[in-house]
Amino acid sequence: MMTAFDLSGRTALVTGANTGLGQAIAVGLAEAGADIIAVGRSAPTETAEAVLALGRGFHALAADLSTTAPIGDVVAEAVAQAGAIDILINNAGIIRRADSLDFSEADWDAVIDTNLKSAFFLSQAVARTWVGGGRGGKIINICSMLSFQGGIRVPSYTASKSGLAGLTRLLACEWAAKGINVNGIAPGYFATNNTEALRADETRNRDILARIPAGRWGDPSDLKGAAVFLASDAASYVHGTILTVDGGWMAR
Ligand code: NAP
Repeated sequence: MMTAFDLSGRTALVTGANTGLGQAIAVGLAEAGADIIAVGRSAPTETAEAVLALGRGFHALAADLSTTAPIGDVVAEAVAQAGAIDILINNAGIIRRADSLDFSEADWDAVIDTNLKSAFFLSQAVARTWVGGGRGGKIINICSMLSFQGGIRVPSYTASKSGLAGLTRLLACEWAAKGINVNGIAPGYFATNNTEALRADETRNRDILARIPAGRWGDPSDLKGAAVFLASDAASYVHGTILTVDGGWMAR
């Protein structure tokens, strides 16, 4: 049955789709009918298997998004491969932890460049193909609780994710009338590589769990529904929102 959530015939470009949240989002979009172009620096072998098993198309493009250098080629190759990109998921991201008194410029730049700068310029490059082709599309930025809150010992990460939330709103305002929906998803605490250090710290792990109303860490598959919704026609009048998927964390 066709529904407003159906993504058949659409192509989604997902960054960092080899693991964690990006992998779950790619598989979720494929379950809803989308073909996937996975962009990242590690081979997305598992994701390819899962997407192909669903009968959807899968194509991998190798790119290190710590700089903007590969973005032009990535978008050109994706368009050559798929004809057009319909959905962009800016998911690739890193985190560096240290007290702000000791935080290095290298850890500042690495996180801002990957999480914020590359997300902006990839969005720009993809949106140019849409505007040039007289069509719209969907952009979903993977934000964080630290798009709203301060956090501890992650200054460049908080700056990047707060910046990404602001950028989501700005791009939504600039591009809504062009048929482009720009929204964000703010995952709460999910069990992935990104949060390994937190889960390994008994005190932090206990404190985090005690504050999550749902009483558990998120599983990457918990993000699928939000991603499919924001990527679909069902969200055509949704612009500039950051949808929290956090087991109730922000409601406390
Ligand atoms: P993860 O398992 O560490 O995955 C991060 C992804 O980003 C990986 O695919 C990684 O590729 C890719 N990546 C990092 N640097 C890259 C670069 N320079 N070029 C290309 N790809 C790069 O972490 P995750 O939890 O799934 O994180 C995904 C996103 O969700 C991130 O933006 C993160 O900030 C955000 N997030 C996570 C949580 C959480 O609780 N886990 C909460 C809020 C937001 P490699 O495998 O090659 O490193």
